[in-house]
Amino acid sequence: MSITSINPATGETLKTYEPLTKEQTMDKVAAAQKAFADWQETTFDHRKSILLTFAKALRERTDECAKLITVEMGKRIAEARKEILFCAEITEFYANGAEEFLANQPMDTDDAEAYIQYAPIGVLMGVMPWNFPFYQVVRYAMPNIMAGNTVLVKHAGNVPQCAEKIQNLFDESGLPEGVFTNLLIPTEFVETIIEDDRIQGVSLTGSERAGAAVAAAAGKNLKRSVLELGGNDPFIVLEDADLDAVVEMAVKGRMVNTGQSCVAAKRFIVVESLADDFLSAFKSKLADMKLGDPIDEDTEVGPLSTESAADNLDKQVQSAINAGATVVLGGDRPDCKGAFFNPTILTDVTPDMPTYDQELFGPVATVYVVKDEAAAIKLANDSSYGLGGSVYTKDIERGRKVAEQIDTGMMFINQPTQSQADLPFGGTKNSGYGRELSHLGILEFVNKKLIHTG
Ligand code: NAP
Repeated sequence: MSITSINPATGETLKTYEPLTKEQTMDKVAAAQKAFADWQETTFDHRKSILLTFAKALRERTDECAKLITVEMGKRIAEARKEILFCAEITEFYANGAEEFLANQPMDTDDAEAYIQYAPIGVLMGVMPWNFPFYQVVRYAMPNIMAGNTVLVKHAGNVPQCAEKIQNLFDESGLPEGVFTNLLIPTEFVETIIEDDRIQGVSLTGSERAGAAVAAAAGKNLKRSVLELGGNDPFIVLEDADLDAVVEMAVKGRMVNTGQSCVAAKRFIVVESLADDFLSAFKSKLADMKLGDPIDEDTEVGPLSTESAADNLDKQVQSAINAGATVVLGGDRPDCKGAFFNPTILTDVTPDMPTYDQELFGPVATVYVVKDEAAAIKLANDSSYGLGGSVYTKDIERGRKVAEQIDTGMMFINQPTQSQADLPFGGTKNSGYGRELSHLGILEFVNKKLIHTG
């Protein structure tokens, strides 16, 4: 079946691609294995100069790349530009830092000299989602390429143009053939690739369903894996928070990428003394946001990535409403063409409703009112996810103590969870395992080899 690029704001088909055959795919796996033999021997300076050329291209061609993101998956153009510039930062971070991150590490041992050498392990398979179509690939590829591995990527089926552009940028930057390979393939090929002896590890960012399938294939074949999965981030508002600042952060945290971010704030847990004021200010801000084509600079809410994504979100919201949730704002799709969903606030979502423990991947906030800090912590932890979260208080020490009690991989005080090149990113529970970004991200797929000279 062909792979199609469709503009979710208009429904227009932009481009159609024929996927690779199994044989063509395995030829590319072979090319990646062949490239590894030479690439692992190159110097950090050589790798760095190629990656810095790639970063420069991203900075010079930001608009061209950003427009592709916008037309292909509906991100607002200003956010798409930010994504491209962030990719340049991540690339520069690993290009400049890898040699230091992977320097031999002496071990403190009594009777001998010993150190850890970080060695590349070979060809890696990556499976990536559409929501940050450049960032997800860059976050996986750059540390691994700098470490001396070679990487394959199967990108999401709805962003083939972005995937192709990334490949072109690598080729134009002078990366040898086989070091980075975009595989335009059907999902069914992924398991066969993981099973192949030449593959040493797999990294997936996406849903729990896909994560479980990939981790099962990796486990069966004794390959290491990193999983960055969904989230249901709590946004905890304590009674001493600065309300105006909190509301601004709530809008930013929920509406990033039209709500389609794994670390978007999703569950707003507000201590009762502030709850009415928070809800009315939050509602008024979301109600004022302008829906429209994401290519227009003044649009504030774009479409979801696909028609089926908008339909799925609608089903989740209607299921909550039918089970007794209260609609404070929105709750439905607007009457217009495109994969749009109205900014929505739900209250009275209870643990017996399926929606309570589901990720709502779109502009839908659930607001919970709690008695006090202890109740807020309990509710925040009552989730099968554990990706990020945030807590709002004027007392930073109190914020830290609350943050330490939340079972997630990342907690932020007085701002929603965000991603930064030099900070680790990853979750607990059903949000996955392993870390990306920072110096930790480059250590996932290297052999931490002990050299002992006793
Ligand atoms: P998805 O369906 O899991 O798709 C992600 C990738 O996995 C796509 O390339 C997809 O291919 C592939 N895939 C799907 N099923 C597969 C299977 N059985 N075996 C192998 N590969 C498979 O994810 P999505 O729903 O589009 O993306 C959103 C999800 O990703 C959300 O849950 C979000 O929270 C999560 N996410 C997490 C992070 C993080 O860093 N933790 C970041 C961004 C997004 P096709 O497109 O061809 O189906």
